[in-house]
Amino acid sequence: MICGALMPAFNTLADFPPDKFSITAYCDACGHSGHLDTAKLPPELPMPALDGLVVCSVCGHRQVHFTISYKAAMDASGMIGRG
Ligand SMILES: [Zn+2]
Repeated sequence: MICGALMPAFNTLADFPPDKFSITAYCDACGHSGHLDTAKLPPELPMPALDGLVVCSVCGHRQVHFTISYKAAMDASGMIGRG
């Protein structure tokens, strides 16, 4: 039971608001990548559920993985600090 607190079971989309985070989806089959528009998805959706929900728009493959980027890290001169 070491470091258990560092490994939450899962996050939901609500933990990654689109004004702060950018989620990019990558297709494992064809390599296509694109921005995932989370505004179309329910905020309470668990992140692992994305795996079966998102389909590649190019080849239709379901093996898609995700990279989450913190926007503020890329835009240090932007407006930070709300909320
Ligand atoms: Zn694909």
